[in-house]
Amino acid sequence: MSGWAPLEAHLEGLRAQHRERRLRDWTPAPAPGHVEVEGRTLLDLASNDYLGLGRKEWTLDTAADLLRSNFPTQEADVVLAALTRFGAGASRLVTGNDPIYGVLERQLAGLKGREAALVLNSGYAANTGVIPALVGKGDAVFSDALNHASIIDGITLSRAERHVYRHRDLTHLDQLLQACSAPRKLIVTDALFSMDGTLAPLAELVALKRRYGAWLMIDEAHTGGVYGGGGAGLAHAQGVSGDVDVLMGTLGKAYGSVGAYIAGDTVLIRYLLNTARPFIFSTGLPPANVAVSLLNVLTAQGMDAARRELQANAANFRARLLAAGHGLAGSESQVVPLVVGEDGAALDLAASLQAEGFGAIAIRPPSVPAGTARIRFALSAAHTWSDLERCLGAVVDGRRAPLPA
Ligand code: PMP
Repeated sequence: MSGWAPLEAHLEGLRAQHRERRLRDWTPAPAPGHVEVEGRTLLDLASNDYLGLGRKEWTLDTAADLLRSNFPTQEADVVLAALTRFGAGASRLVTGNDPIYGVLERQLAGLKGREAALVLNSGYAANTGVIPALVGKGDAVFSDALNHASIIDGITLSRAERHVYRHRDLTHLDQLLQACSAPRKLIVTDALFSMDGTLAPLAELVALKRRYGAWLMIDEAHTGGVYGGGGAGLAHAQGVSGDVDVLMGTLGKAYGSVGAYIAGDTVLIRYLLNTARPFIFSTGLPPANVAVSLLNVLTAQGMDAARRELQANAANFRARLLAAGHGLAGSESQVVPLVVGEDGAALDLAASLQAEGFGAIAIRPPSVPAGTARIRFALSAAHTWSDLERCLGAVVDGRRAPLPA
Protein backbone atom coordinates (compact mmCIF):
# COMPACT_ATOMS: atom_id res chain seq x y z
CA MET A 1 0.00 0.00 0.00
CA SER A 2 1.48 3.33 -1.04
CA GLY A 3 -0.54 5.52 1.30
CA TRP A 4 -1.40 7.78 -1.63
CA ALA A 5 -4.98 6.51 -2.04
CA PRO A 6 -6.55 9.89 -1.14
CA LEU A 7 -4.40 11.62 -3.76
CA GLU A 8 -5.28 9.01 -6.37
CA ALA A 9 -8.96 9.48 -5.56
CA HIS A 10 -8.58 13.24 -5.92
CA LEU A 11 -6.94 12.82 -9.33
CA GLU A 12 -9.64 10.38 -10.37
CA GLY A 13 -12.24 13.00 -9.43
CA LEU A 14 -10.45 15.62 -11.56
CA ARG A 15 -10.19 13.19 -14.47
CA ALA A 16 -13.92 12.43 -14.31
CA GLN A 17 -14.63 16.16 -14.61
CA HIS A 18 -12.10 16.70 -17.47
CA ARG A 19 -10.03 18.77 -15.03
CA GLU A 20 -6.84 16.81 -14.57
CA ARG A 21 -3.94 18.78 -16.00
CA ARG A 22 -0.86 17.20 -17.53
CA LEU A 23 2.31 18.75 -18.87
CA ARG A 24 2.99 18.83 -22.59
CA ASP A 25 6.15 20.13 -24.28
CA TRP A 26 5.74 23.36 -26.27
CA THR A 27 8.97 23.92 -28.20
CA PRO A 28 9.61 27.23 -29.98
CA ALA A 29 9.47 26.65 -33.76
CA PRO A 30 11.60 28.60 -36.27
CA ALA A 31 8.70 30.75 -37.57
CA PRO A 32 7.84 33.74 -35.31
CA GLY A 33 4.74 33.11 -33.22
CA HIS A 34 4.82 29.35 -33.83
CA VAL A 35 5.53 26.34 -31.60
CA GLU A 36 6.09 22.64 -32.04
CA VAL A 37 3.80 20.38 -30.07
CA GLU A 38 4.01 16.61 -30.39
CA GLY A 39 5.85 16.85 -33.70
CA ARG A 40 3.49 19.41 -35.30
CA THR A 41 3.99 23.12 -35.89
CA LEU A 42 1.17 25.25 -34.48
CA LEU A 43 0.45 28.97 -34.39
CA ASP A 44 1.08 29.85 -30.72
CA LEU A 45 -2.17 31.42 -29.54
CA ALA A 46 -1.73 30.57 -25.88
CA SER A 47 1.44 32.14 -24.48
CA ASN A 48 1.73 35.60 -22.93
CA ASP A 49 4.63 36.55 -25.18
CA TYR A 50 2.66 39.56 -26.45
CA LEU A 51 5.56 41.24 -28.25
CA GLY A 52 7.41 38.13 -29.43
CA LEU A 53 10.39 39.09 -27.25
CA GLY A 54 10.49 35.73 -25.48
CA ARG A 55 12.00 34.33 -28.64
CA LYS A 56 14.68 36.97 -29.05
CA GLU A 57 18.19 35.56 -28.94
CA TRP A 58 20.73 37.99 -27.47
CA THR A 59 24.46 37.67 -28.06
CA LEU A 60 27.11 39.80 -26.41
CA ASP A 61 27.46 41.68 -29.71
CA THR A 62 23.78 42.41 -30.30
CA ALA A 63 23.41 43.37 -26.65
CA ALA A 64 26.45 45.67 -26.83
CA ASP A 65 25.01 47.43 -29.90
CA LEU A 66 21.75 48.22 -28.11
CA LEU A 67 23.43 49.17 -24.83
CA ARG A 68 26.07 51.49 -26.27
CA SER A 69 23.39 53.73 -27.74
CA ASN A 70 21.39 53.84 -24.48
CA PHE A 71 23.84 53.79 -21.58
CA PRO A 72 27.21 55.16 -20.50
CA THR A 73 30.01 52.62 -20.99
CA GLN A 74 30.21 51.68 -17.32
CA GLU A 75 26.53 50.71 -17.09
CA ALA A 76 26.61 48.93 -20.45
CA ASP A 77 29.53 46.87 -19.12
CA VAL A 78 27.51 45.92 -16.02
CA VAL A 79 24.76 44.53 -18.25
CA LEU A 80 27.14 42.67 -20.55
CA ALA A 81 28.95 41.07 -17.60
CA ALA A 82 25.64 39.95 -16.10
CA LEU A 83 24.58 38.26 -19.35
CA THR A 84 26.95 35.38 -18.65
CA ARG A 85 26.23 34.98 -14.92
CA PHE A 86 23.59 32.40 -14.12
CA GLY A 87 23.25 32.41 -10.35
CA ALA A 88 22.89 35.19 -7.79
CA GLY A 89 24.25 32.91 -5.05
CA ALA A 90 22.14 34.36 -2.23
CA SER A 91 19.28 36.68 -1.39
CA ARG A 92 19.86 40.19 -2.67
CA LEU A 93 20.04 41.44 0.92
CA VAL A 94 22.95 39.07 1.63
CA THR A 95 25.46 38.83 -1.22
CA GLY A 96 23.17 38.35 -4.23
CA ASN A 97 22.76 41.97 -5.31
CA ASP A 98 24.51 41.96 -8.68
CA PRO A 99 24.70 45.58 -9.97
CA ILE A 100 22.47 44.56 -12.90
CA TYR A 101 19.39 44.73 -10.62
CA GLY A 102 19.97 48.43 -10.01
CA VAL A 103 20.34 49.13 -13.73
CA LEU A 104 17.00 47.43 -14.45
CA GLU A 105 15.31 49.12 -11.47
CA ARG A 106 16.41 52.58 -12.59
CA GLN A 107 15.22 51.85 -16.12
CA LEU A 108 11.80 50.67 -14.91
CA ALA A 109 11.39 53.61 -12.52
CA GLY A 110 12.21 56.00 -15.40
CA LEU A 111 9.82 54.23 -17.78
CA LYS A 112 7.01 54.40 -15.22
CA GLY A 113 7.82 57.99 -14.24
CA ARG A 114 8.23 56.98 -10.58
CA GLU A 115 10.99 57.60 -8.04
CA ALA A 116 12.12 54.01 -7.57
CA ALA A 117 11.51 50.38 -8.43
CA LEU A 118 12.23 46.98 -6.90
CA VAL A 119 12.69 43.75 -8.88
CA LEU A 120 11.23 40.59 -7.34
CA ASN A 121 11.52 36.98 -8.47
CA SER A 122 8.08 36.53 -10.04
CA GLY A 123 4.66 38.10 -10.18
CA TYR A 124 3.44 35.47 -7.78
CA ALA A 125 6.23 36.36 -5.33
CA ALA A 126 5.48 40.07 -5.73
CA ASN A 127 1.75 39.80 -5.00
CA THR A 128 2.14 37.32 -2.15
CA GLY A 129 4.95 39.43 -0.68
CA VAL A 130 3.83 43.00 -1.12
CA ILE A 131 0.20 42.69 0.02
CA PRO A 132 1.10 41.13 3.41
CA ALA A 133 3.88 43.71 3.79
CA LEU A 134 1.37 46.55 3.39
CA VAL A 135 -1.65 45.28 5.33
CA GLY A 136 -2.29 42.88 8.20
CA LYS A 137 -4.85 41.82 10.77
CA GLY A 138 -7.44 44.56 11.31
CA ASP A 139 -6.77 46.21 7.93
CA ALA A 140 -8.97 45.77 4.86
CA VAL A 141 -8.29 44.83 1.24
CA PHE A 142 -10.77 45.56 -1.57
CA SER A 143 -10.28 43.15 -4.44
CA ASP A 144 -11.98 42.83 -7.85
CA ALA A 145 -13.84 39.51 -8.16
CA LEU A 146 -11.70 38.50 -11.15
CA ASN A 147 -8.29 39.31 -9.66
CA HIS A 148 -5.45 36.86 -10.29
CA ALA A 149 -4.82 33.94 -7.92
CA SER A 150 -1.55 35.48 -6.72
CA ILE A 151 -3.45 38.55 -5.46
CA ILE A 152 -6.02 36.35 -3.75
CA ASP A 153 -3.24 34.34 -2.08
CA GLY A 154 -1.46 37.55 -1.04
CA ILE A 155 -4.64 38.75 0.68
CA THR A 156 -5.07 35.41 2.45
CA LEU A 157 -1.48 35.54 3.70
CA SER A 158 -1.93 39.11 4.94
CA ARG A 159 -4.80 38.12 7.28
CA ALA A 160 -6.49 41.44 6.48
CA GLU A 161 -10.28 41.52 5.98
CA ARG A 162 -11.09 40.67 2.37
CA HIS A 163 -13.83 42.63 0.57
CA VAL A 164 -14.48 41.32 -2.93
CA TYR A 165 -16.30 43.75 -5.22
CA ARG A 166 -18.15 42.65 -8.34
CA HIS A 167 -15.98 42.79 -11.46
CA ARG A 168 -15.28 46.48 -12.26
CA ASP A 169 -18.38 47.51 -10.27
CA LEU A 170 -17.41 50.90 -8.83
CA THR A 171 -20.76 51.39 -7.08
CA HIS A 172 -20.25 48.14 -5.21
CA LEU A 173 -16.67 49.10 -4.32
CA ASP A 174 -17.85 52.52 -3.13
CA GLN A 175 -20.43 50.88 -0.83
CA LEU A 176 -17.85 48.50 0.62
CA LEU A 177 -15.36 51.31 1.24
CA GLN A 178 -18.01 53.47 2.85
CA ALA A 179 -19.02 50.71 5.26
CA CYS A 180 -15.43 49.98 6.33
CA SER A 181 -13.69 51.57 9.29
CA ALA A 182 -10.38 49.68 9.11
CA PRO A 183 -7.34 51.94 9.69
CA ARG A 184 -5.55 50.85 6.51
CA LYS A 185 -7.41 50.19 3.29
CA LEU A 186 -5.84 48.76 0.13
CA ILE A 187 -7.67 48.55 -3.21
CA VAL A 188 -6.03 46.02 -5.50
CA THR A 189 -6.82 45.19 -9.11
CA ASP A 190 -5.45 43.57 -12.22
CA ALA A 191 -5.01 46.18 -14.96
CA LEU A 192 -6.01 43.58 -17.58
CA PHE A 193 -8.00 40.61 -16.30
CA SER A 194 -6.15 37.64 -17.66
CA MET A 195 -9.07 35.30 -18.29
CA ASP A 196 -11.61 37.87 -19.58
CA GLY A 197 -9.43 40.38 -21.41
CA THR A 198 -11.26 43.29 -19.74
CA LEU A 199 -9.49 46.44 -18.45
CA ALA A 200 -9.76 48.03 -15.01
CA PRO A 201 -11.29 51.56 -14.77
CA LEU A 202 -8.13 53.09 -13.33
CA ALA A 203 -9.10 56.78 -13.23
CA GLU A 204 -12.28 55.92 -11.29
CA LEU A 205 -10.30 53.73 -8.89
CA VAL A 206 -7.90 56.61 -8.27
CA ALA A 207 -10.88 58.87 -7.45
CA LEU A 208 -12.26 56.29 -4.99
CA LYS A 209 -8.93 55.66 -3.30
CA ARG A 210 -8.61 59.44 -2.77
CA ARG A 211 -12.13 59.78 -1.41
CA TYR A 212 -11.63 57.03 1.16
CA GLY A 213 -7.94 57.51 1.98
CA ALA A 214 -7.06 54.05 0.64
CA TRP A 215 -3.93 52.86 -1.15
CA LEU A 216 -4.29 51.63 -4.74
CA MET A 217 -2.22 48.73 -6.10
CA ILE A 218 -2.37 47.76 -9.78
CA ASP A 219 -1.05 44.54 -11.33
CA GLU A 220 0.17 45.34 -14.84
CA ALA A 221 1.20 41.74 -15.65
CA HIS A 222 -0.63 41.73 -18.99
CA THR A 223 -0.35 45.44 -19.84
CA GLY A 224 3.33 46.21 -19.15
CA GLY A 225 5.03 46.48 -22.55
CA VAL A 226 1.65 46.28 -24.32
CA TYR A 227 -0.14 49.54 -23.40
CA GLY A 228 1.05 53.14 -23.26
CA GLY A 229 3.83 54.99 -25.07
CA GLY A 230 7.06 52.98 -24.79
CA GLY A 231 4.98 50.15 -23.30
CA ALA A 232 4.85 52.02 -19.97
CA GLY A 233 1.56 50.30 -19.13
CA LEU A 234 -2.16 50.93 -18.74
CA ALA A 235 -1.83 53.41 -15.86
CA HIS A 236 0.44 55.45 -18.09
CA ALA A 237 -1.92 55.08 -21.08
CA GLN A 238 -4.81 56.31 -18.91
CA GLY A 239 -2.78 59.19 -17.48
CA VAL A 240 -2.84 58.02 -13.85
CA SER A 241 0.57 56.43 -13.46
CA GLY A 242 1.67 59.01 -10.86
CA ASP A 243 -1.53 58.51 -8.82
CA VAL A 244 -1.20 54.77 -8.25
CA ASP A 245 0.47 53.96 -4.93
CA VAL A 246 1.83 50.54 -5.89
CA LEU A 247 2.49 49.82 -9.56
CA MET A 248 3.28 46.14 -9.99
CA GLY A 249 4.22 44.43 -13.25
CA THR A 250 5.88 41.27 -14.50
CA LEU A 251 8.87 40.53 -16.70
CA GLY A 252 7.82 37.07 -17.91
CA LYS A 253 5.04 38.05 -20.31
CA ALA A 254 5.51 40.85 -22.88
CA TYR A 255 9.08 41.29 -21.62
CA GLY A 256 9.91 37.67 -22.46
CA SER A 257 12.04 36.96 -19.39
CA VAL A 258 11.16 36.21 -15.77
CA GLY A 259 10.52 38.27 -12.64
CA ALA A 260 8.40 41.19 -11.52
CA TYR A 261 8.77 44.75 -10.29
CA ILE A 262 7.13 47.28 -8.05
CA ALA A 263 7.45 50.94 -9.02
CA GLY A 264 6.49 53.80 -6.71
CA ASP A 265 7.78 56.28 -4.16
CA THR A 266 11.26 55.76 -2.69
CA VAL A 267 9.86 55.24 0.81
CA LEU A 268 7.63 52.41 -0.46
CA ILE A 269 10.55 50.66 -2.13
CA ARG A 270 12.78 51.06 0.94
CA TYR A 271 9.96 49.69 3.09
CA LEU A 272 9.29 46.69 0.83
CA LEU A 273 12.89 45.60 0.68
CA ASN A 274 12.81 45.42 4.47
CA THR A 275 9.44 43.68 4.77
CA ALA A 276 8.40 41.65 1.68
CA ARG A 277 9.25 38.10 2.73
CA PRO A 278 9.66 36.56 -0.76
CA PHE A 279 12.22 39.30 -1.43
CA ILE A 280 14.09 38.79 1.83
CA PHE A 281 14.11 35.00 2.00
CA SER A 282 14.72 33.92 -1.61
CA THR A 283 17.78 33.81 -3.86
CA GLY A 284 17.86 36.70 -6.33
CA LEU A 285 17.00 36.07 -9.98
CA PRO A 286 19.85 34.91 -12.22
CA PRO A 287 21.76 38.05 -13.33
CA ALA A 288 21.57 36.80 -16.95
CA ASN A 289 17.78 36.91 -16.81
CA VAL A 290 17.82 40.36 -15.25
CA ALA A 291 20.11 41.53 -18.07
CA VAL A 292 17.73 40.01 -20.67
CA SER A 293 14.82 41.77 -18.95
CA LEU A 294 16.68 45.06 -19.30
CA LEU A 295 17.47 44.42 -22.99
CA ASN A 296 13.88 43.45 -23.69
CA VAL A 297 12.44 46.43 -21.78
CA LEU A 298 14.69 48.70 -23.86
CA THR A 299 13.63 46.94 -27.06
CA ALA A 300 9.97 47.12 -26.10
CA GLN A 301 10.27 50.87 -25.48
CA GLY A 302 10.94 51.25 -29.22
CA MET A 303 7.98 49.11 -30.35
CA ASP A 304 5.11 51.63 -30.46
CA ALA A 305 4.26 50.68 -34.07
CA ALA A 306 4.09 46.97 -33.19
CA ARG A 307 1.85 47.82 -30.21
CA ARG A 308 -0.54 49.78 -32.43
CA GLU A 309 -0.67 46.91 -34.93
CA LEU A 310 -1.32 44.39 -32.16
CA GLN A 311 -4.24 46.47 -30.84
CA ALA A 312 -5.66 46.90 -34.35
CA ASN A 313 -5.38 43.15 -35.02
CA ALA A 314 -7.00 42.37 -31.68
CA ALA A 315 -9.90 44.78 -32.39
CA ASN A 316 -10.51 43.14 -35.80
CA PHE A 317 -10.22 39.63 -34.35
CA ARG A 318 -12.79 40.43 -31.64
CA ALA A 319 -15.14 42.14 -34.11
CA ARG A 320 -15.12 39.10 -36.42
CA LEU A 321 -15.88 36.68 -33.58
CA LEU A 322 -18.64 38.90 -32.19
CA ALA A 323 -20.18 39.27 -35.65
CA ALA A 324 -20.28 35.48 -35.90
CA GLY A 325 -22.25 35.33 -32.66
CA HIS A 326 -19.55 34.21 -30.23
CA GLY A 327 -19.42 35.38 -26.60
CA LEU A 328 -16.12 37.06 -25.67
CA ALA A 329 -16.69 37.88 -21.96
CA GLY A 330 -16.47 41.61 -22.68
CA SER A 331 -12.84 41.43 -23.86
CA GLU A 332 -11.38 44.77 -24.97
CA SER A 333 -7.73 43.78 -25.35
CA GLN A 334 -5.22 41.36 -26.90
CA VAL A 335 -6.56 38.63 -24.59
CA VAL A 336 -9.66 37.26 -26.32
CA PRO A 337 -11.60 34.52 -24.56
CA LEU A 338 -14.07 32.53 -26.64
CA VAL A 339 -16.54 31.38 -24.02
CA VAL A 340 -17.73 27.83 -24.67
CA GLY A 341 -19.43 26.75 -21.43
CA GLU A 342 -18.84 23.16 -20.42
CA ASP A 343 -15.31 21.89 -19.85
CA GLY A 344 -15.64 18.96 -22.28
CA ALA A 345 -16.87 21.22 -25.09
CA ALA A 346 -13.95 23.65 -24.55
CA LEU A 347 -11.47 20.76 -24.62
CA ASP A 348 -13.04 19.42 -27.84
CA LEU A 349 -12.82 22.82 -29.51
CA ALA A 350 -9.17 23.25 -28.42
CA ALA A 351 -8.37 19.77 -29.76
CA SER A 352 -9.98 20.46 -33.12
CA LEU A 353 -8.22 23.85 -33.43
CA GLN A 354 -4.92 22.15 -32.60
CA ALA A 355 -5.64 19.50 -35.25
CA GLU A 356 -5.96 22.37 -37.74
CA GLY A 357 -2.64 23.97 -36.71
CA PHE A 358 -3.77 26.46 -34.05
CA GLY A 359 -2.16 26.18 -30.62
CA ALA A 360 -5.14 27.36 -28.59
CA ILE A 361 -5.86 25.96 -25.16
CA ALA A 362 -8.97 25.45 -23.08
CA ILE A 363 -9.18 27.30 -19.76
CA ARG A 364 -11.34 25.52 -17.21
CA PRO A 365 -12.32 25.88 -13.57
CA PRO A 366 -10.77 26.70 -11.15
CA SER A 367 -9.10 29.31 -13.39
CA VAL A 368 -12.60 30.48 -14.49
CA PRO A 369 -16.09 29.98 -12.94
CA ALA A 370 -17.83 26.65 -13.58
CA GLY A 371 -19.87 26.66 -16.79
CA THR A 372 -17.67 29.31 -18.46
CA ALA A 373 -14.83 27.17 -19.83
CA ARG A 374 -13.24 28.97 -22.72
CA ILE A 375 -10.56 29.14 -25.35
CA ARG A 376 -8.21 31.96 -24.36
CA PHE A 377 -6.67 33.46 -27.49
CA ALA A 378 -3.61 35.50 -26.53
CA LEU A 379 -2.68 37.64 -29.52
CA SER A 380 0.87 38.78 -30.08
CA ALA A 381 2.82 41.22 -32.23
CA ALA A 382 4.53 38.07 -33.55
CA HIS A 383 1.27 37.10 -35.31
CA THR A 384 0.54 38.52 -38.74
CA TRP A 385 -3.03 39.41 -39.65
CA SER A 386 -3.01 36.55 -42.16
CA ASP A 387 -2.10 34.11 -39.31
CA LEU A 388 -5.10 35.40 -37.36
CA GLU A 389 -7.36 35.38 -40.41
CA ARG A 390 -6.63 31.65 -40.89
CA CYS A 391 -7.50 31.05 -37.25
CA LEU A 392 -10.75 33.00 -37.63
CA GLY A 393 -11.52 30.83 -40.64
CA ALA A 394 -11.20 27.73 -38.50
CA VAL A 395 -13.51 29.13 -35.81
CA VAL A 396 -16.02 31.12 -37.85
CA ASP A 397 -16.33 29.72 -41.35
CA GLY A 398 -19.59 27.88 -40.83
CA ARG A 399 -18.10 24.53 -40.00
CA ARG A 400 -18.87 25.46 -36.43
CA ALA A 401 -22.12 26.97 -35.21
CA PRO A 402 -21.82 29.92 -32.80
CA LEU A 403 -21.26 28.66 -29.32
CA PRO A 404 -23.50 29.63 -26.44
CA ALA A 405 -22.05 32.62 -24.54
N1 PMP B 1 -0.54 38.61 -11.96
C1 PMP B 1 -1.27 38.29 -13.04
C2 PMP B 1 -2.44 39.16 -13.41
C3 PMP B 1 -0.93 37.18 -13.82
O1 PMP B 1 -1.66 36.84 -14.88
C4 PMP B 1 0.19 36.41 -13.44
C5 PMP B 1 0.67 35.21 -14.25
N2 PMP B 1 -0.26 34.43 -14.84
C6 PMP B 1 0.90 36.77 -12.30
C7 PMP B 1 0.52 37.88 -11.59
C8 PMP B 1 2.08 35.96 -11.84
O2 PMP B 1 3.21 36.36 -12.54
P1 PMP B 1 4.46 35.39 -12.68
O3 PMP B 1 4.14 34.45 -13.80
O4 PMP B 1 5.60 36.30 -12.97
O5 PMP B 1 4.59 34.67 -11.37
